[in-house]
Amino acid sequence: MKRRQFITAMGLGALALATPFSLSSAERLTDKWLSQPSSGKMRLSFTPYELQLRHAFNLAKSSRTTTPDVLVRIEYEGFTGYGEASMPPYLGESIDSVCRFLSKVDLSQFSDPFRLEDILAYVDSIDKDNRTAKASIDIALHDLLGKIMGQPWYKIWGLNPERTPLTSFTIGIDTEEVVRQKVEEAHPYKVLKVKMGLDNDRATIETIRSMTDRPICVDVNQGWDSKEHALEMIHWLKERGCLFVEQPMPKEMIDETAWLRERSPLPIIADEAFQRLPDITRFKGVYDGINIKLMKSTGMHEAYKMITLARALDMKVMIGCMTETSCAVTAAAQLSPLVDWADLDGNLLISNDCFDGLKIVEGKVTLPDAPGIGVTPL
Ligand code: MG
Repeated sequence: MKRRQFITAMGLGALALATPFSLSSAERLTDKWLSQPSSGKMRLSFTPYELQLRHAFNLAKSSRTTTPDVLVRIEYEGFTGYGEASMPPYLGESIDSVCRFLSKVDLSQFSDPFRLEDILAYVDSIDKDNRTAKASIDIALHDLLGKIMGQPWYKIWGLNPERTPLTSFTIGIDTEEVVRQKVEEAHPYKVLKVKMGLDNDRATIETIRSMTDRPICVDVNQGWDSKEHALEMIHWLKERGCLFVEQPMPKEMIDETAWLRERSPLPIIADEAFQRLPDITRFKGVYDGINIKLMKSTGMHEAYKMITLARALDMKVMIGCMTETSCAVTAAAQLSPLVDWADLDGNLLISNDCFDGLKIVEGKVTLPDAPGIGVTPL
């Protein structure tokens, strides 16, 4: 496809964005892919996709029922690697910005897909933002390379698949009735992740505790504005079987978070406060650990480096996800034998997953024994 034809295709893509569509069959998947012009051996193509959430996703500062997404694939000598960009609003990216970014990526200058460092450094240099778009290429490249080698990434990294952690299942902020329903749905999971940060925080926990004594972790999504209130809540939560608290206060409240951490009986984990590798270096003494997500880290390559750095700083590590298909969730799961906690339920929160990948068996992340990131398009 020539450049001009591609731009025309992008225009059609923009029309598609105005009318969100779902891809429910393999035929439609192939119909809608927009291909990058490439004279090289690697061929990049992508298609917009709207994730439909099973329940409205209510957080301390937002609510939504869909998540924009872009599916990506890279083809090379008969192999196809799949990737994905998922864009929750707080990341500041959109289907339009991701498609624009992907349309600038020219892989024809690389004849060897194994030059991962070179390729990803080039992709990173195209624009300073667009982390989810960068992640989609990183994931597709890892999938491609693993398939060429015939091995899953946990094996390539030398990780023990038995060491995968339990994963939590998310209970969003909601009415008592919906919270009860979600706790029922979560029965295969051994840890519950509870979203907090509104006036009904204590009532939500009391509801959950009236149904189950499973351990919980709490994600406040920056919802507590006072360090004294945060400390009081954390003591209260500890008595109710909470393991750790994620992003209790706004990311800008660095001194207050350090104050809280010094006094907190539970580990304080950073999420919204950071995105990429260099951000972690200033966290020593402020947070006890970090929640890495591929959509923030620009993918698996940098996420691996982040785990290494966090461990060197004696920090806890959690691997999380956005609402995503099994594609990006299974890619993140490849790193899970290295972390303390996993929150890999993004694929379970949507009703139109278009990949088969990781399984949760008795609450534990179970990696597919399949090459690459281990997913199959449905
Ligand atoms: Mg979080």
